[in-house]
Amino acid sequence: MIVRTACPHDCFDCCGIEAEVKDGAVVALKGSQSHPVTRGFLCGKVQGYLRRQYSKDRLLYPLRREGSSFRRIGWEEALDEVACGLERARALKGPSSVLSYSDAGSMGYLKSLEGRFWGEFGGATFASGSLCSAAGLEAMAADYGRIGQHDPEDIPNSRLIALWGRNPMVTNIHMVPYIRKAKERGAKVVLVNPMPSESEALADYAVKPRPGSDAALALGLAREIIASDMHDGGYIGRHVEGYASYLEEAMSWTLGRTSDVTGVPVEDIRMFARDYALVKPASIWLGFGLQRHAGGGNAVRAVNALGAITGNIGRPGGGVNYSNRSSRVLNPLGYEGRMKDVKLVWKGRLADDIRALGDGFIEMAVIARSNPMLQCPDTEDLERVFEKIPLKVVFEHFMTDTAKAADIVLPAATFLEEDELYCSYFHNYVSLGRKAVEPLGEARPDIEIMKGMAERLGIGCLSGRTALEWIRYALEPMEAYGITLDRLMDEGWVRFPAPMVPWQDGKFPTASGRIMVGSPAPPKYIPPHELPDKEYPFYLITGALRDRLHSQYDNLGADPAGLQAVYVHPEAARRLGLKELSVVEVYTKHAAMRFLMVFDDRMRQDVIYAHHGRWKDRNGGINRLIKGYLADMGGQGALYDCAAGIRPSEVR
Ligand code: SF4
Repeated sequence: MIVRTACPHDCFDCCGIEAEVKDGAVVALKGSQSHPVTRGFLCGKVQGYLRRQYSKDRLLYPLRREGSSFRRIGWEEALDEVACGLERARALKGPSSVLSYSDAGSMGYLKSLEGRFWGEFGGATFASGSLCSAAGLEAMAADYGRIGQHDPEDIPNSRLIALWGRNPMVTNIHMVPYIRKAKERGAKVVLVNPMPSESEALADYAVKPRPGSDAALALGLAREIIASDMHDGGYIGRHVEGYASYLEEAMSWTLGRTSDVTGVPVEDIRMFARDYALVKPASIWLGFGLQRHAGGGNAVRAVNALGAITGNIGRPGGGVNYSNRSSRVLNPLGYEGRMKDVKLVWKGRLADDIRALGDGFIEMAVIARSNPMLQCPDTEDLERVFEKIPLKVVFEHFMTDTAKAADIVLPAATFLEEDELYCSYFHNYVSLGRKAVEPLGEARPDIEIMKGMAERLGIGCLSGRTALEWIRYALEPMEAYGITLDRLMDEGWVRFPAPMVPWQDGKFPTASGRIMVGSPAPPKYIPPHELPDKEYPFYLITGALRDRLHSQYDNLGADPAGLQAVYVHPEAARRLGLKELSVVEVYTKHAAMRFLMVFDDRMRQDVIYAHHGRWKDRNGGINRLIKGYLADMGGQGALYDCAAGIRPSEVR
């Protein structure tokens, strides 16, 4: 039997998948040829998902901590204890003495039902903001009035494609065929990225600004474009709000100043400005890294402005594209009332924010679809903070660093074991994920776990509907577009009829009806929270490893055992007397960690780079090196604002 489903991962592509089921087990997975965007191929991670699904290490039963180990318990005992803990915390200090931390470990839409539970419970302390993309999302909404994106099918219409911080060869692989098609038609590709990127293979040339200097680069490009009369005055007059204040800001970014701040040679700035302004239509495809800095939201706004002043917005093959939200025309599943007792802590500053609530205030934590003990900044401090929380409950597939810190671990179902609804943040297809097999062992879908907690507390809001019935309810607003559960059952995925090109009509849902380029204030360059100095002479940044998805898959050996690699430019290493493949210590103001040094001459000489997501018991845990800072918008964590040094490992 073939069951059609979709990839649940926090990845642009949201691939269509076919699962072959025999005797109650999935025996093969492949990309569905019938998906118009993902077209029958999957990344290596999900191609090999059955190693994960049927891993001997998968958590299949509820576990209770006993000293330094765990003992298997039944669901009744587990849920009784969780409910008891919730009641106790609420009675003692109110609902907000419970921390709710969840994230994008599965992108299934039904996961947002947990909000109903917390609403009925009376509130919670919510881990809010983002480690991922929130500053950019807020910047896009501020400038355009909502978040729109060109359909992937429009990419081949571009004559120039700037991959600004985006690495489609690793994190958006189904974008690559569209880029190749554009190149076949003669398009030029420019890569803007301070770190070594697999996508350089697609590019005609690369521009490598210092980490956190993207706003300066964009403003410097704008000045060059305007000063050389390469801007589109007509478009600015019709569609740009606040141009005078933007112009004043942009004109202060001379080529010399821009080069000083970004480290990009003047000639490269000139070349890129000329190409972007004159090779039309030009599209920019942003990644998320540029907004994980103090000025991340301003950086995205500064790039948006480039699209506006060159008249590349609202035209086929153009646009400044970030993260697609067009197909999310769904009934909200979260709590819509006003919760009685709510506090917020930022994921990007979690340890400090929990501590700021008052010593011992948090009585209990419920953590789902996330691994904060590895992925939040300042993890050593976070460990100390978590130790003080009396009861920690984690929903998980594996014994992650966060599960290891828990008191109760509840086994979660995988995407092959549950019905779900998925929307991509790259293309416009809405996908139904069908349950292919029963959950292994005693694993349960997250929503069933929440339901079990709710019933014990007399909360009925999650009862009375099956997963498919919740999906039918969520899809009600889509019925006007012909997208129904029955149709999804039949076809698997259906394209939401978002325009191929947003804002072609020149109408922006902002207060002025125009693009808010300089209003209420123009974008500015905000320096990173930490800048290199004599003691910490490098920027430390991290990126995605092809065979890991954040921290998922690491336990399946995503990269070779031993020390994790840190990448350094050979000249920078030689200046420090460090040899290739030697063991080095990367140190910051916050911690130090050992790595194997690997040379990469594509690097900037003032940057060191490593992949994030490696588990602590595999010599990972790189986020212990970084401090929890916030970006300027969206409660985004400024995870890439980190100055570091590097030395032979024996020097302490
Ligand atoms: S992780 Fe991304 S590329 Fe891989 S199967 Fe899932 S959606 Fe497709």
